[in-house]
Amino acid sequence: MTSRQPTLKLKSQQLNTLINVIKQRGYTPVGPVVREGSLIYDRLNSADELPRGWTDEQDAATFRLKRRSDNAYFGYNVGQHSWKQFLFLPKVKLFTSIKKGKTFEVIPNSPHEIVQNYAFIGVRPCDLQAIKVQDLVFNNGQFTDPLYKTIRKKNFIAVVNCTQAGGTCFCVSMSSGPRAYRGFDLAMTEVLSGDDHFFTVEVGSKSGAEVMSEIPHDIADQTQIETADKLVERAARQMGRSMDVKDIKEILYANLENKSWDDVANRCLTCANCVMVCPTCFCSTVEDITDVTGEHAERWRRWDSCFTMDFAKVFGGNFRPSSKGRYRQWMTHKLATWIDQFGTSGCVGCGRCITWCPVRIDITEEMRTIRSGAR
Ligand code: SF4
Ligand code: SF4
Repeated sequence: MTSRQPTLKLKSQQLNTLINVIKQRGYTPVGPVVREGSLIYDRLNSADELPRGWTDEQDAATFRLKRRSDNAYFGYNVGQHSWKQFLFLPKVKLFTSIKKGKTFEVIPNSPHEIVQNYAFIGVRPCDLQAIKVQDLVFNNGQFTDPLYKTIRKKNFIAVVNCTQAGGTCFCVSMSSGPRAYRGFDLAMTEVLSGDDHFFTVEVGSKSGAEVMSEIPHDIADQTQIETADKLVERAARQMGRSMDVKDIKEILYANLENKSWDDVANRCLTCANCVMVCPTCFCSTVEDITDVTGEHAERWRRWDSCFTMDFAKVFGGNFRPSSKGRYRQWMTHKLATWIDQFGTSGCVGCGRCITWCPVRIDITEEMRTIRSGAR
């Protein structure tokens, strides 16, 4: 979109219409839902499935859902899921190999058989930034993952700006939230003001404009825009965590032998929870599977992590056998080498790795410790 569009106002009752229009346009809507006491992303049939009236409490190794005093649709932050599971699939078959006489026929998996036209509803600004970070990894000219590229091409993104921050959020430090400025089809801010419950809506693409043209809406007035802006500003002041990113790359490079790596290694279980929940981590491995007849084989790609023992196993041994080396690799990649590789931090400040680490390891605290004792 080139020209600036006016901010729109969508009544909360029209959220269902939005989902229906998105479905009618051939997308599969996916959004946050409550399952087994947690928040996950799943297919949405209607706005009634959103976690209306729920909020989350988050801290190190703590996630709890509790009831809100109002009926906000998006009155929480993020759960353990991220959108990466729909774009960079946790497990995908790459090809099948079938024995034909004395040779094998290799049948590649067509991305088009797997791809869904996903419409992501309720993307948080930090997670939008994470998608942009993964675009640099998987859809970057010379190095393109065909499956990721095909899914992203058909992807509709409806952001919901944050109006409250969680206990482990630090998107302000990473300049990734709590408001999204570009890279979306629609960006909404939820406002509950007395009996008035509505969303201000910014249109960010032609697809977003087409969707909105099919839904009854108004142009937001200045008071409504200012009310929404104030809620987002409040979220920015509520960050539960912070990280000083000044000279972060240089500090980490100069402190590869800092004694704090030994301390964190004594606590880290190398369970890889932090990697699985991180919306930007992208390591994978490939596995070959054969049947007992030896006539049918498949190659699969699945998520892996720099914390697993086998990840650094090569001919001749394992080049990263210690948990100290593995934690240092993960954190230094996130906050330093990622910048050299992709021109951006690998951390968007979503806080998931802090919430879901079973032993309360906190990337913001670890960075603070290294900075304070930096050589
Ligand atoms: S930092 Fe925490 S979540 Fe990550 S591997 Fe270590 S123990 Fe697991
Ligand atoms: S490193 Fe932690 S806070 Fe940063 S993006 Fe990954 S999960 Fe979120």
